[in-house]
Amino acid sequence: MQLVFVGPPGAGKGTQSKWLSSFLAIPHLSTGDMLRAAVEQKSDIGKSAQDFIQDGKLVPDDIVMELVDARLDEEDCKNGFLLDGFPRTLEQAKMLDQLLSRRGTPLSLVLELTVDENQLLQRLVDRGRGDDSPETIQNRFHVYRNQTEPLLQYYGEKDLIKSIDGSGSREEVREHIRVAVRQENLEA
Ligand code: AMP
Repeated sequence: MQLVFVGPPGAGKGTQSKWLSSFLAIPHLSTGDMLRAAVEQKSDIGKSAQDFIQDGKLVPDDIVMELVDARLDEEDCKNGFLLDGFPRTLEQAKMLDQLLSRRGTPLSLVLELTVDENQLLQRLVDRGRGDDSPETIQNRFHVYRNQTEPLLQYYGEKDLIKSIDGSGSREEVREHIRVAVRQENLEA
């Protein structure tokens, strides 16, 4: 199965999507993790991406697509995968659709985690990652509202979205996801 996880910064996407991918036994593909690894390795992609990440802006679509395209070609993605933090723009969503239709493996479901903004801010402050400075956080919210939220309508029209209440404890949210996955018959 081919899954996408969407949600604002601080919604717990990383934690929950890692758990879900191991629960469903499919690889967890986070473009944020891939980009941070590229920065760490000081590769060409990393050098191009670094400033965008630090500013809380989106890395250009072509760079991200290159990473995703290469990753989906790997053997472990043959039976499905969970995408975390990708797509983040309508353009990426459309490119992903094309890529998946070439492979003959369309998206199965898009899971959206919803959390109110005050709680999101608190979670980001508590997390304290390198790109979690107040200014960067504001940028990431702004980018989410303007560039990523339009995806919800796009996937909604395709009847692919399942929204999950992401407030509450890690365990509570995990339980909501477990129920959603069961309802959609995604369990192995
Ligand atoms: P994340 O770990 O998903 O919060 O991503 C951290 C940062 O990596 C974002 O603020 C962006 O700068 C960059 N990034 C991650 N995924 C994408 C994507 N799909 N498109 C563009 N930039 C991305």
